[in-house]
Amino acid sequence: MSEPTAAGSPSPEVPAKSMEQIVSLCRRRGFVFQSSEIYGGINGFWDYGPLGTELKRNLKNAWWQDVVQRELIGPDGTAVDIVGVDCTIIMNPKVWEASGHLGGFSDLMSTCKHCKRLMRTDHLWDMLSEAEWTKSILEMYAGGSVDSMQLKRWADTKGKKLAPNLALVRNPQVTLSWLADRLADGSAALTVQEFMMHLATEQAARDGLRLPCPHCGGDLTDPKPFNLMFKTLVGAVEDPANVAYLRPETAQGIFVNFQNVVDSTRVKVPFGIAQVGKAFRNEVTPRNFTFRSREFEQMEIEFFIHPSEANQWYAWWRDWRFSWWQSIGLTSSNLQLREHDRDELAHYAKEGAGTSDIEYRFPFTAPGFGELEGVAHRADFDLRAHATHSGKNDKAKYFDQARNERYFPHVIEPSAGADRGTLALLCEAYTPDPSRPSGVFMRFHPRMAPVKAGIFPLVNKEGMPEIGEKLFRTLRKKHVVEFDEKQSIGKRYARMDEAGTPFCITIDSETLSSQTVTVRHRDTQQQEKLGIEQVPAWLDRQIGLED
Ligand SMILES: [Zn+2]
Repeated sequence: MSEPTAAGSPSPEVPAKSMEQIVSLCRRRGFVFQSSEIYGGINGFWDYGPLGTELKRNLKNAWWQDVVQRELIGPDGTAVDIVGVDCTIIMNPKVWEASGHLGGFSDLMSTCKHCKRLMRTDHLWDMLSEAEWTKSILEMYAGGSVDSMQLKRWADTKGKKLAPNLALVRNPQVTLSWLADRLADGSAALTVQEFMMHLATEQAARDGLRLPCPHCGGDLTDPKPFNLMFKTLVGAVEDPANVAYLRPETAQGIFVNFQNVVDSTRVKVPFGIAQVGKAFRNEVTPRNFTFRSREFEQMEIEFFIHPSEANQWYAWWRDWRFSWWQSIGLTSSNLQLREHDRDELAHYAKEGAGTSDIEYRFPFTAPGFGELEGVAHRADFDLRAHATHSGKNDKAKYFDQARNERYFPHVIEPSAGADRGTLALLCEAYTPDPSRPSGVFMRFHPRMAPVKAGIFPLVNKEGMPEIGEKLFRTLRKKHVVEFDEKQSIGKRYARMDEAGTPFCITIDSETLSSQTVTVRHRDTQQQEKLGIEQVPAWLDRQIGLED
């Protein structure tokens, strides 16, 4: 849990971008809509509009091309072997028993005794630091000494409205006396969290201190495990035997097909299996736009190695995945690679080569970061678990001919979120520029841009529309391009700036006299002349299709 900083002077690297403005542009220009918006939406579900769909598709295609299809040179200088699978969302429920998703690895949840809301215990502090009532208390706290008079006054005014169930509001005398006792005992200084806990606690002697409900300030129950998998029924009979689950991750589809892939292809360890697909988690507190949704898409690789090579492959994957995100446009200091400390590692990773997160500083996490992709050494936890649960046991071991050895391969898992990646591209691209008619432009990497070029006849006569349409037809064989002959050229540029189109190609009078077009570059707004015949090959180069 990260504590909010008391004094708020953001570092110069924090982007001066507002999430409200980004969300508003996403809706206005058709990047992202609320799911089922005409019925008031549904919490934790999002739809992509025409531009957002192209953007997300470009991200997934680039991942697939660079991971599976194109040559990728590994740490030993030879090509890395990776093949794809596309597995079902509903699998045999035994998969989730073996993986631990049905057992002990659920998240701890607390319920508010007053407003009955359920929330993830490990999100409490983050949610509290976003709550209006906490903010107003922390403002007082940051201002220096907070005395009982101030707190009492707050409880009677703001507190009554914003956090009616907070102990301080319901029973200020008792709560303030607990706080006074604590301050008088002369032990270590009071932390922000402890301070908040005191304000939330009436019965400190009986229940101990705990954090309050972020929504209403009320008392929370003890944390209990809660399973985040969506349940459904297979077949017509409502019987517990027919219960199945929507997959909470794509990884298990890969693990249960490990043997099939080995038997049906020529891959040999070390090799990887990749999958892109939907996954579902019944998040109790979906929030931050598409960052924490209940339905989302993953891009996962399980890379199978000999256990002795874990350190080398782990480091290589971590570094390559980090540089990949940079290569598609996340070039600012808002992208960071963070190696986990040993004590925060998952149960299967404690002894391993390591775990790291590739993180992005979103406007809603700043000055902190949110996870885009995790790279973890999962050892042989999953293959072994499926070998045991399926009854195959040692027969499921991989036979390594070169080493003449039978073993469960270890796994390095780079697991990325396609929706989070898309959101990071949107946040990174969003560039306010008051000098432009649109006031903002989207600085997408050309490979990611939803529309690669806009083609505009300068005027709607003298054969310019016909020439433009011919160029449009040629370019759209390979690229998403738009033909626009309406409105002033300034308005057409503004529309393309908001869509993040890197190039606008204008057919003007010189096209008629000397077969050149005017190309306008989105980021610099500079213009250059190009022979119309050169445009297709030139555009390929800009997008990175040809060197
Ligand atoms: Zn509550």
